[in-house]
Amino acid sequence: MRRLLIVSNRLPVTVDKKKQRLQFSKSSGGLATGLDSFYRSYDCRWIGWPGIAKEKLTEADNSKMSDYLSQNQCVPVMLQSSEVDHFYQGFSNKTIWPLFHYFPQIVTYEQISWKYYSNVNRLFRDAILKIYKTGDLIWIHDYHLMLLPELIRDQLPDASIGFFLHIPFPSMELFRLLPWRKELLSGLLGADLIGFHTYEYIRHFLDCTRRLLGLEHIFNRVIHKCRLIHSDVFPMGIEYDRFASVKSDPKIKIEIDEIRKNIGDRKLILSVDRLDYTKGIVQRLEAYDMFLDANPVFREKVAMILVEVPSRSAVDSYQLLKVKTDEMIGRINGKHGTLGWAPILNLYRSLPFHTLAALYAASDVAVITPLRDGMNLVAKEYVAAKHDSEGVLILSELTGAAREMGEAIIVNPNSIDDIAAAIKYALTMDKEEKITRLKKLQLRLRRYDINKWAHDFITKLTHMSEVYDQYKLNNFTDNVYDNIISRYRNSSERLLLLDYDGTLVPFQNKPELAVIDNEITRILLSIQHNGTTIAILSGRDRHFLEQQFRELNVTLFAEHGAWVKYPDSQWHTFTNLRNDWKDDVRPILDLYIDRTPGAFLEEKEYSLAWHYRNADPELASLRVLELKDALFQMLSNRNLAVMDGNKVVEIKNAGIGKGHAAKAILSKRKWDFILAAGDDITDEDLFSVLPSDTYSLKIGLRPSKARFNLKSYQVLRSLLSDLQPRAI
Ligand code: UDP
Repeated sequence: MRRLLIVSNRLPVTVDKKKQRLQFSKSSGGLATGLDSFYRSYDCRWIGWPGIAKEKLTEADNSKMSDYLSQNQCVPVMLQSSEVDHFYQGFSNKTIWPLFHYFPQIVTYEQISWKYYSNVNRLFRDAILKIYKTGDLIWIHDYHLMLLPELIRDQLPDASIGFFLHIPFPSMELFRLLPWRKELLSGLLGADLIGFHTYEYIRHFLDCTRRLLGLEHIFNRVIHKCRLIHSDVFPMGIEYDRFASVKSDPKIKIEIDEIRKNIGDRKLILSVDRLDYTKGIVQRLEAYDMFLDANPVFREKVAMILVEVPSRSAVDSYQLLKVKTDEMIGRINGKHGTLGWAPILNLYRSLPFHTLAALYAASDVAVITPLRDGMNLVAKEYVAAKHDSEGVLILSELTGAAREMGEAIIVNPNSIDDIAAAIKYALTMDKEEKITRLKKLQLRLRRYDINKWAHDFITKLTHMSEVYDQYKLNNFTDNVYDNIISRYRNSSERLLLLDYDGTLVPFQNKPELAVIDNEITRILLSIQHNGTTIAILSGRDRHFLEQQFRELNVTLFAEHGAWVKYPDSQWHTFTNLRNDWKDDVRPILDLYIDRTPGAFLEEKEYSLAWHYRNADPELASLRVLELKDALFQMLSNRNLAVMDGNKVVEIKNAGIGKGHAAKAILSKRKWDFILAAGDDITDEDLFSVLPSDTYSLKIGLRPSKARFNLKSYQVLRSLLSDLQPRAI
């Protein structure tokens, strides 16, 4: 079994120092506790911050801590308190957290915090590099470490890296507000597999990678820097059995009885969250107030236990929230309470497992109404703890959990009326309905518990390297590379058939900027001097090609073969080519340019090309379908063809294509070495007419008729440059 490195901001063990003595305790929170049994079952190391600032520890402390942590398979990343301030309180919790939870009004954008965030991500990378062994799986967690996948990838190109985001991924309209949006996306794309709680978050993520980085996606996969990156949904589960068996624990049983004795025959409503502005606590309290106003029969018959777990209290917005909820609790209790009854009992602390479990088991209704929540585990834990009793869950539709928990009473957390009505409905729901709803929820939660979630992710991550290998099947091994060079050197009649854009030079936003550079000119010159025939097959017009290759004496095929110019001769074309159709077609293309900002027309002698590289990708994909539909209808009885290229739709004479062009030169001689390279759909035409022993090379990892896939145009460059033996 491969070793697993789990990486998260916090270690599952927290280190503290009181009266000069180190103390070790289990960290609280879903991930650390939830993965406890999973990570012990693996050959696993957990890398993270132990919760204490570096400067607080003496040398002796450090060695004691290291011993303890290594016994627990933990590797510490030590942070100074200034780093914790800027990286954790700052960038993570004042920038990413509010923005990703749709609170743009309280986001701060500070360059200094960003710097710390980047630096701390590098510290995590260094810690990983120190212990990494070939074959390890690396699983990185959450928004604190979004740069880490790429930082590791730069050092370990072949590592298996997974990333899981525990919070929502916001829509493009919010994400684009970040000054460092491209860096974060690129950071994440260092992973092989990126996991989210819901499909909606994946959609947002892919939308951002497409619009901000120009990466197209197919079946949730993108290709970036010549690598395949997959995103998938893994809704995080809970330790179902642990919560389902609470009643069989005598200690918890005593607590349940205690709670019920104190509450008497009142109905108990439970509210549990970290005290966080995303959790909708204010709206929930308003709704409870409204419910009490509207339903006097429930006065003294109901009580709410409001658990507020202290959280991030160094951040201003959290302090303000505490003041606000204290004031509301006081007001509601003052307004509705009697001498023997307080409508709200407030616990402002973190509860140990047995107390929390007892509260789950003892309560009649749980109201979980975050304004935004990546998942929400409390909702799942509550349902599991109701394994053999009744209860009703009221759940916000803006939680990830709501996607799987449709049998809860689903509410809009901003609608006070909705929540108030849901409380009444829950309190009056009949037993049968409660049980029916619970059973369905429990079945699902038990099946997909936290162990299943973690195994699922790891299995998929392991499988990713196999998927990647499949792409490598017709990939360019060192063997093939060497073979090509030796065959080339041992042949005398050599032909190179080369596409231009994306093959010899990289794409630019404006086609006129994709000009030839000195390096490739020098390489081609040296090949040509060696007596090799070079033919360029391009969709470009002849004037452009002639200008680019003026230093070389190569064969040029322009406009996909509509024009040809052999060395030392003039351009000529096929006499039956026509261009009188252009005046009819141009207005349609112009119309679609007006309707698609960023699109533009390229006019060639025998073709018209509608480019959409710079248009909004979503809109462009719609417009391409509409445009092609309009063109097909119009061109149905003319001898013209509509051709898809790389972000371009081209209308040209039928029968013209790179295949046709290539045949003309292939038949000129008996070649004993042929190499053809191209990146585009139009090059498939070329690949399909080549003799079987041709070295046909597809630039990029897309499926192709070519025999080999090259990762990028640079690989082709290095191959072309290695064809000639170097002068010693
Ligand atoms: N929790 C806890 N003690 C408490 C209250 C909650 O340990 O007093 C745990 C709870 O069992 C759950 C986690 O904290 O596993 C909260 O996870 P959730 O996804 O609901 O919210 P988050 O705090 O991650 O935003």
